[in-house]
Amino acid sequence: MPKVLRCRDLGLDCSKEIRAETEDELLKLASDHAEKDHGMPAKNIPPSILAMVKAAIRNE
Ligand SMILES: [Zn+2]
Repeated sequence: MPKVLRCRDLGLDCSKEIRAETEDELLKLASDHAEKDHGMPAKNIPPSILAMVKAAIRNE
């Protein structure tokens, strides 16, 4: 089942929707996006943020 993460759901002013087949893939795409578009170093995501991101992942 495809999974989707919407930046908006994280309280960001961003209309990006990230889709992937697995949670691992989604988290990888999300960290790439966070680094490129939100200036958030992908290798340095605090566990609290990671937990928020995981909680915002929806099955599509
Ligand atoms: Zn975004």
